[in-house]
Amino acid sequence: VPWFKSPRPSLVPIRAKSVLHPFIEGGLTLNPYVGCGHRCAYCYATYEWAEEFYDRVRAKMNAPELFAAELRRSGPLVPPVMLSSATDPYQPAEARLRLTRRVVEECVRAGVGFYIFTKSALVLRDLDLFSRARDRCLIVFSLITVDEALKRLLEPGAPSARALLAAARKLSSSGVRVAVNIAPVIPFLTDSEGALERLISRARAHGVLYFDAAPLRLREDIWTRLGPLLEEAGMGDVKSSLERLYFSRGLKRAHYILPPEDYRTSLTARIRKLVASHGGTFGLPIEEKGRQGARAGIITPRLLAGQATLYDFV
Ligand code: SF4
Repeated sequence: VPWFKSPRPSLVPIRAKSVLHPFIEGGLTLNPYVGCGHRCAYCYATYEWAEEFYDRVRAKMNAPELFAAELRRSGPLVPPVMLSSATDPYQPAEARLRLTRRVVEECVRAGVGFYIFTKSALVLRDLDLFSRARDRCLIVFSLITVDEALKRLLEPGAPSARALLAAARKLSSSGVRVAVNIAPVIPFLTDSEGALERLISRARAHGVLYFDAAPLRLREDIWTRLGPLLEEAGMGDVKSSLERLYFSRGLKRAHYILPPEDYRTSLTARIRKLVASHGGTFGLPIEEKGRQGARAGIITPRLLAGQATLYDFV
């Protein structure tokens, strides 16, 4: 496999100077790790500063203490914290290190809202904490397909769709709100009506109420991983179709190429319709609103659909 070298990433403990960073207007993000063992081919977080992203996971061992200190300093006006924007907070390293768990404990203790983006069923380990913060937390599973073979090809270090959906069921039946983020939707690979229907219907059957979606954004390094992978997997036709869609008709945005407007509009409309037909809700219940006036960040059921989504920043 071309984009990582070792069978498993090595773990490097580090000490961070700060961990809480502005994310979207008024929002905060915390990344307990740099790098990720899930090793998704299309990952957006493989920035230049995250050296050996797939082979070396750097763990910010002092993240919980730093976070607690930053919470104390910032007082009660803390917007919801997103875990995480540039890594998976429940990747394999977390099973042993429990850094994310300790950060979530701090959120619960301080009454701060939080939302978690993950591809891992390990999140279930912390159900006890989420249960104590039902009104101010949201668990978002990133799930791009329920085709297990395709998922393994694209996300070789991530758990199966089956494991993820089983975790979703347990969380939702305990009263914790669960969403599925279908992102990235990869044109010609995971965007067919049948594939989306299977994903949405299974997620609904596992208690998922909220959905969101975004098509693949291409960046040079992403294409150097994805292109050869498709070729080697005997999907040269998909590769050629992607080339035509993105490189001839796509929209350049900073370092990324987006699929053309008509593709994006029709994809969103199709997913919206499928979600509605299965009784789900398109859009995430995230709102930066204070508890007791302008106090700690809380998540309430107002929808952000139509606004800039969080994934524009992930
Ligand atoms: S789980 Fe997220 S952060 Fe980790 S490799 Fe996959 S896309 Fe990147």
